[in-house]
Amino acid sequence: MKIYGGIEAGGTKFVCMLGTDPDHVLAEERFPTTTPAETLGRAIEFFQRAAQGHKLIAIGIGSFGPVDLHAESPTYGYITTTPKPGWAQTDLCGMLHQALQVPIAFDTDVNAAAFGEHTWLPENRALDPLLYLTVGTGIGLGAIVNGQPLHGLLHPEAGHMLLPHDRTVDPFEGDCPFHGDCWEGLASGPAVEKRWNRRGETLPPDHPAWQLEARYIAYAVANLIYAFSPQRIVLGGGVMQQAGLLDRVRHEVQRIINGYLQSDRITRDIDQLIVAPGLGNRSGVLGAIALAIQTAR
Ligand code: ADP
Ligand code: ZN
Repeated sequence: MKIYGGIEAGGTKFVCMLGTDPDHVLAEERFPTTTPAETLGRAIEFFQRAAQGHKLIAIGIGSFGPVDLHAESPTYGYITTTPKPGWAQTDLCGMLHQALQVPIAFDTDVNAAAFGEHTWLPENRALDPLLYLTVGTGIGLGAIVNGQPLHGLLHPEAGHMLLPHDRTVDPFEGDCPFHGDCWEGLASGPAVEKRWNRRGETLPPDHPAWQLEARYIAYAVANLIYAFSPQRIVLGGGVMQQAGLLDRVRHEVQRIINGYLQSDRITRDIDQLIVAPGLGNRSGVLGAIALAIQTAR
C-alpha cells in the first residue's frame, strides 16, 4: 500500500506520522527535540521501522524556523539562523532524503498546520485565504493563499508585528530578543509567564492576564484581517488552551474593528471566522502529510 510520512519538527518536540489521511494513520510517535543528529536519527528510524511492508512515497516536513523555502537556494530545506543551540544551519531535508531516498516536501510548521486545516476539513476547503496562528512558546502565522502556503521573500513572520503597547496599563517591557515588545515579546507563553511570574496554565480564567492577552491577540488578528481579508482564522497553540480566551479574542476583534468592515462574519458570526483548530494538536503533522501527497503528484 502507498503511504506518506509527516514530520512536525518543533523546537521542543518532534511528531512523526505515517498514513494517508486523518482517518488512516498507521503509526505516530512523539519525542523531545534534542540534538539534530539524535532527533533526526529517531525520525529516520521511525520511518524505516513503521513503513516496513508498505511503499513510502514521500515525506512532508513542517519545521520551526526560520527556514529556507527557496528551491533554487543552496541552503534550501535548512533551518537557518535559529538561536536554538546546535540547530542553526541544519540541513533537515538533505539528511532525511539521504537516509530515506524519497522526495521531501518542506515548509514552516505553521504553513503546514494551515495546509492541514485547509486540506483535511471539508468546511475549510473553500475558505481562502485561511490563516493559522499559533500562540505558544513563540507566535507564528501560516497562510494559505490561492490554495497554497504563502512563502514570498522568506516566509510570514507575523509574530513580530508591532502593536499598541500602553505602558501605563502594562509596564512589562516584552521579551523578544530582537524587538522587545513586538507581539511575540508581549503575548507568547513565556511572556505571560515573565509578566505574571506564573505559568499561564496556573492563572485562572478570570485573572486580568487574559483580558490583556486577548487584547494583544485581537490587535494582531484585526491587523491580519485588514491585510489578508481571510475567510478563516484558526487560533492554535498552548496559550489558546486557556478557557474563555478564544471568546475574549472574538469580542475584542469586534470592538477594535468597530463596525468598519461590514461582513456578517465579523459583526455577527465571528465564531465562524475565528475558530479553534479542527484537527486539534495534529494540524501540523497532518498538514505535513498533505504536503507529501502534493509533492508526489
Ligand atoms: P510550542 O509552542 O513549544 O509548540 P505549545 O503550543 O504547547 O508549545 O505552547 C506552550 C506554551 O503554552 C507554554 O508557554 C505554556 O505555558 C502555555 N500554555 C499551555 N497550556 C496553557 C493554558 N491552559 N493556558 C495558558 N497557557 C498555556
Ligand atoms: Zn520580535
